[in-house]
Amino acid sequence: MLAETGAGFTSGGAAHLLLKAMRVVYIGLGANLASSAGPPEATLACAAERLGALGRVAARSRLYSTAPVGFADQPRFLNAAVKLETALEPGALLDALMGIEAGFGRDRSGGLKNGPRTLDLDILLIEGEAVDEPGLVVPHPRLAERAFALAPLCEIGAGARDPASGATMTEWLERLFAERPEERGAVVGIESNLW
Ligand code: AMP
Repeated sequence: MLAETGAGFTSGGAAHLLLKAMRVVYIGLGANLASSAGPPEATLACAAERLGALGRVAARSRLYSTAPVGFADQPRFLNAAVKLETALEPGALLDALMGIEAGFGRDRSGGLKNGPRTLDLDILLIEGEAVDEPGLVVPHPRLAERAFALAPLCEIGAGARDPASGATMTEWLERLFAERPEERGAVVGIESNLW
């Protein structure tokens, strides 16, 4: 949802209003290798803190322990989702996310798709807005088929909708579980005092 927020100030007796378009963005976080911050749950906690510099973190899901997708011979992942209110344009937000990934040692040189990583940050969904530009597609192109992203997203944005179809994230997750019941057991909410 694009919302206009006003920051009022006065100058020479006249009131002016500074309007900024705020986006409500759901960001997916994932990790399965230790980083300089520590084990994956410590990395995700530090990364969530860094997201606070990009706007206001309005909600955080629990952590989820999830089975690796695509490339099975690697440790399980930890995943979570964060709801961020931000004035950044989507492209600038993605650049900032990639900067945070790099800061936690994300190395893309291995070229192994879906391989192990210290930190992965994805723009899962922006309320009321679709993006389709080179290098950035939102909703994330594989969101509807990824229980590890949808389960934490539904915890904090169950009623958020796919802007194209109007379907809610809960409907996407229910459809995914109906089509692939084994996915239910592949994503497990966990408690951690590091998160
Ligand atoms: P990954 O290896 O999964 O981190 O993929 C990151 C690449 O996917 C980046 O180079 C982005 O340009 C691209 N990408 C496209 N859409 C998105 C999105 N919604 N969120 C994050 N990355 C995206």
